[in-house]
Amino acid sequence: MSKTWRPATQLVHGGTLRSQYGEMSEAIYLTQGFVYENSEAAEARFKGETEGFIYARYGSPTNAMFEKRMCLLEGAEEGRATASGMAAVAAAVLCQVKAGDHIVAARAVFGSCRYVVETLAPKYGVECTLVDGRSLENWEKAIRPNTKVMFLESPTNPTLEVVDVAGVAKLANQVGAKLIVDNVFATPLFQKPLELGAHIVVYSATKHIDGQGRCLGGIVLSDKKWIEEEFQEYYRHTGPAMSPFNAWTLLKGIETLPLRVRQQTENAAAVADFLAAHPKVAKVIYPGRKDHPQADIIAKQMTGGSTLVAVELKGGKDAAFALQNGLEITRISNNLGDSRSLITHPGTTTHKNLTEDARAELGISPGTVRFSAGIEDTTDLVEDFARALDKVSA
Ligand SMILES: *Cc1c(COP(=O)(O)O)cnc(C)c1O
Repeated sequence: MSKTWRPATQLVHGGTLRSQYGEMSEAIYLTQGFVYENSEAAEARFKGETEGFIYARYGSPTNAMFEKRMCLLEGAEEGRATASGMAAVAAAVLCQVKAGDHIVAARAVFGSCRYVVETLAPKYGVECTLVDGRSLENWEKAIRPNTKVMFLESPTNPTLEVVDVAGVAKLANQVGAKLIVDNVFATPLFQKPLELGAHIVVYSATKHIDGQGRCLGGIVLSDKKWIEEEFQEYYRHTGPAMSPFNAWTLLKGIETLPLRVRQQTENAAAVADFLAAHPKVAKVIYPGRKDHPQADIIAKQMTGGSTLVAVELKGGKDAAFALQNGLEITRISNNLGDSRSLITHPGTTTHKNLTEDARAELGISPGTVRFSAGIEDTTDLVEDFARALDKVSA
């Protein structure tokens, strides 16, 4: 039954485990371990002959509910909750490579993800090639016989480029590599990487899944075979497990995910349209607009626009700062996916460590800001931008 429910129903009911008390809301099992009725029961549990939990670093009931609910939403067989999005990314990459292997990754990925593939993996003898992910030819050229992992994010942070997920998955299959997709910007509602052929999906649950700026979290989702054979040992022995308290917070968060993402997308689209027509704006990049440079790929692989908008102001950094400072509702913050509207200037914050040239390659200019739409009233947000732009010198 629960397998055929649509997302909004899954996100309220899917994966619920009730104790003998029949509690309405999911219980928080804040326990580090579990007791066994007798020695034989402990032996059987450790041998894997009986179902049940052993130690909270491996798995626990509140986390299991969160994992199950995310699996139902994503169409994945198995998932493992992690303490943060980066714990999910690092574990998904590092669990399956060894010295002598090779990674191909898109250069336009979240800064810490880029650190994992570009800087951390090579320290352990795993080479990495970064490519402009927009062209499949670049991926194809970078692949080597020892390529084990391909990694991408689509749409990308902060300039909302997209990558042809099905195309890259096909290339990965040709060399037996695994494609990991960081699906944070698309949200699990607008893009299903596993259906497009990706092998592993990772999320920072800190973003839309919590969506209320309360806690960090992440998840790795894949098929049962990969989780059991490649991921499980790494996860158990290196300890990136999520706190059950955070799993509970996130269970409450995903109940309202479709409502929030719908309103955020409406708000993002309205702000994008307003800005695109404004004389002080040089460029708007929004996956829901027909003028997105890769609108054809978006139509092929996404079912909705985005909750994020990238905007380039004609007046460069001064104009970007003045816009941010002039906004009253939208707050300056590098988080995203929150119920509050947020704005950030990537050149001086999230992408400050890149050289000016590296930023330019990613489409980040001094006048670029990234807007993350919240769930506020649409007209209030547009009026806020109109007022703030009035104060920006032309
Ligand atoms: C935020 C983010 C991450 C990292 O997640 P944390 O929960 O902050 O560790 C990874 N990828 C993308 C695309 C993100 O936006």
